[in-house]
Amino acid sequence: MRIDVVTGFPGILEGPLDESIIRQARMKNLVEIVLHDLRNYTHDRHRTIDDEPYGGGAGMVLKPEPFFECFDELSADRSYNEVIYLSPDGELFTQKLANDLSLKNSLMILCGHYKGVDERIREKLVTREISIGEYVLSGGEIPALVVIDAIVRLIPGVLHDAESALEDSFQSEDPDHPHYTHPPEYRGMRVPEVLLSGNHEVIAQWRHEEASKRAALKRK
Ligand code: SAM
Repeated sequence: MRIDVVTGFPGILEGPLDESIIRQARMKNLVEIVLHDLRNYTHDRHRTIDDEPYGGGAGMVLKPEPFFECFDELSADRSYNEVIYLSPDGELFTQKLANDLSLKNSLMILCGHYKGVDERIREKLVTREISIGEYVLSGGEIPALVVIDAIVRLIPGVLHDAESALEDSFQSEDPDHPHYTHPPEYRGMRVPEVLLSGNHEVIAQWRHEEASKRAALKRK
């Protein structure tokens, strides 16, 4: 899979994309993630990517030209399954949507900032608008990281144990079950005996029951 991210602030993404599971996925060539700095698609001395809104009002708006020029350059090399704009008023990001997107070959992600982007970008370039939740962040960079992380861990071969992602919350109807690791006792708290039993059938049953209990608690 290839993911192209178009942003005025690539530095926000660089560190997180170079750590942990995403880093390993990139090193194994399971995903190629390329950041594109909007300022490289400007033509003035100050490399301006934003401007005042027509009609007045507070806040700056990201200009159309850098997005369109970057889009044209990227689209000349490949076609994209989706061109995603992160927006608080978009479709809510869910595990199901992450599953769907993880099956695509190539995604372009556009990050807004300040008041957002010139509407013509949304009208002409964007095929899907995604919100990571009902709150407003300063820019689309952190939402882009959320979406990328959720997608990349679902790509076959990224997690060592393929079943791991399938057992996560939201993949099935129930939430995930509790997890324990060494030591068997810590500050007086013991790992449930059943997990030390070595009996996989009983363990599976216990995990199922615990996940159901959590689901029931959530429904209250
Ligand atoms: N004026 C916009 C509004 O009220 O919908 C908010 C703009 S926000 C300050 C700047 C940018 O951050 C947006 O263009 C979007 O790309 C991103 N953003 C902020 N909150 C987001 C969220 N919950 N989900 C996805 N993207 C978000």
